[in-house]
Amino acid sequence: MKGLSLTRLEVSATLWNSVKRRMVSNIPPELFDKRTKYGPKSTWFNDPALDEAAAKQQVRISPSTLLYSGKSSDGKSHILTSAQYLHRELPVRLAHRVADFRQLPFVVGCDESIAEVHELYVRAFHILNKFSPIENFDGEQKYSKVVSALLDDFRNVVTTLAEGFKDSRKYMPNGSLKEFLDRTLKSRLGIRLLAEQHLALHEDRPNFIGIININMNLRKTVERWAEFTRDLCLNKYGKAPQVKISGHVSATFPYIVQPLDYILPELFKNAMRATVEHHWNEEGETLPSIHVTLANNDIDFVVRISDRGCGVEHQHLPHIMDYHYTTASLFYSDSRKEDGGYMDDFVSLTNPGATRGPMHGYGFGLPTSRAYAEFLGGSLKLESLQGVGTDVYLRLSHIDGPKESIRI
Ligand code: ADP
Ligand code: MG
Repeated sequence: MKGLSLTRLEVSATLWNSVKRRMVSNIPPELFDKRTKYGPKSTWFNDPALDEAAAKQQVRISPSTLLYSGKSSDGKSHILTSAQYLHRELPVRLAHRVADFRQLPFVVGCDESIAEVHELYVRAFHILNKFSPIENFDGEQKYSKVVSALLDDFRNVVTTLAEGFKDSRKYMPNGSLKEFLDRTLKSRLGIRLLAEQHLALHEDRPNFIGIININMNLRKTVERWAEFTRDLCLNKYGKAPQVKISGHVSATFPYIVQPLDYILPELFKNAMRATVEHHWNEEGETLPSIHVTLANNDIDFVVRISDRGCGVEHQHLPHIMDYHYTTASLFYSDSRKEDGGYMDDFVSLTNPGATRGPMHGYGFGLPTSRAYAEFLGGSLKLESLQGVGTDVYLRLSHIDGPKESIRI
């Protein structure tokens, strides 16, 4: 029985090789030579280039720096400067992530999904770390292609991590899963924003500098996601509540819409699901509306989403910001059917179908939204009026506010 005599090192090396074999990349083959990606001396356990980068400090920049470095008088030198910043910065950030994966308990790191994401970070690190210094636009173009392909490679990381931790979370010391996922998701958001900002500098969109909408209309953004979620809800339940928006409905300001594109639909899905499930016998027109109130000031802006979906019961309230915690009955194990609990059925994620719609997922909506809000110098708070409904307060700092509150 050879398997029984394997050492931990051999187990990891075997796992690593199997994960590598399974992984596919969107990077064009001419820009990514598999045979040379790790360098001659590096192994799973001994990777001097990675250690060196992990020891460096990240250089986080403020959105106003992004805003003001998003243009140049010749119309293009800022693109080169931006690529040079990424070329220095991305390997450092990726190396920090890898170092974090290596601190996970051994048994957790052996989970195939976790190992896959770990390997994704190691590979991305080496590809970017080995990229020649960017001295001209030819180099910049190749670099942008690689960055864009890596963004695609990393698209499903959150789902893969959710899947990986669903069984192995029991081996994480108390509270450390939340800390690890918060760090990973915040860092991932930062990396994606920097990368997307750089790629967007190539486009000339009116009203935009890179990914910053210099005149974002908050009401329209909220309305767009309310409509999107209503369609999902109609599809899944055959009815959906109206959404009414009041308060500072004409507020416009510079903002980066990407994080809102994640947070708003998650919050609307929760509010609509609660409304429909608790008014199951009512028709679409008589379902109580969801009320959104917008408040804008010099320092920050607030989106309050109030629903009449009966609130969150006392017994669930302490857990709803935990990763994997859901009361979506389709997804509990049988023993937890009446109570809610930590998700342990993943069919829904990989195989959404008519009955397993996307209105609720795997207990990641609230904790991920809160991590993103905190990363953006804000907060996400939920007040439950048990028996009546829920108020969710999303508060986010302005990116051009009087005091600097965010660094990406
Ligand atoms: P999921 O939607 O996948 O269950 P979330 O993290 O979005 O995961 O929400 C976790 C849980 O919090 C939900 O399962 C639900 O029980 C509760 N919840 C969140 N928002 C609301 C709301 N507006 N009304 C009632 N319960 C809510
Ligand atoms: Mg949800």
